[in-house]
Amino acid sequence: MQTLIDVYRQLDVMHAWRGWHWWPDADPFEVTVGCILVQNTAWTNVEHALQRLRAANAFSAAVMDTLSDNELEELVRPSGQYRQKTRKLRAFLDLARKRGGFESLLATPANELRPLLLGTFGIGPETADAIICYAARQPAFVIDAYTMRIFGRLGIGPVKSSDYHEWQRFFLEGLGDAHDGDPRDLFARYHALVVLHAKHFCRKRAPRCGDCSLAAWCPFAEPG
Ligand code: SF4
Repeated sequence: MQTLIDVYRQLDVMHAWRGWHWWPDADPFEVTVGCILVQNTAWTNVEHALQRLRAANAFSAAVMDTLSDNELEELVRPSGQYRQKTRKLRAFLDLARKRGGFESLLATPANELRPLLLGTFGIGPETADAIICYAARQPAFVIDAYTMRIFGRLGIGPVKSSDYHEWQRFFLEGLGDAHDGDPRDLFARYHALVVLHAKHFCRKRAPRCGDCSLAAWCPFAEPG
């Protein structure tokens, strides 16, 4: 049985050279907005919305807070479900204001920040952990459908489950000894590599098993 670190090393060999939008040094507010806008849509649509927000100089909580709902809806429209996403951004901005501002909110320790985010309209476990990991740069392991697809195919983890917390526990326990007490970079990098692998190799349809260096361990890989 291969370990999570064995898989990580292979993913790193295959994808370390590729760029990824949230790692290692993206602007924390832009990351947070991206985490909310990417729900139920492709990243390319989010990019269009982010470009509009950039052009409107709206990339700070203080500026975004001054926009009317109509203005914000128009800016985020390319990301789809734009009225709903405007409500979600508004709820997040309210939380930030109540906690002394965006920077102060992100500086809240992860074990307090997570329930605050989860208690905010439109933020579920995946979005909360992505904000903690990539915007607050605190330890959180993000689970998503890509994680479950790749590791389900590899037969590693709770493969019959689609429970977010069960998968997250598996990764936290499995990676417990694989860092020097500060898992932030490992967790951020691991999830980034998982997303890149799902997009470029382990696609939903027609995975590129012939090009994948995990194929020797993967029961799903096509023979030959
Ligand atoms: S061998 Fe194929 S199914 Fe297995 S991880 Fe690689 S791309 Fe995915």
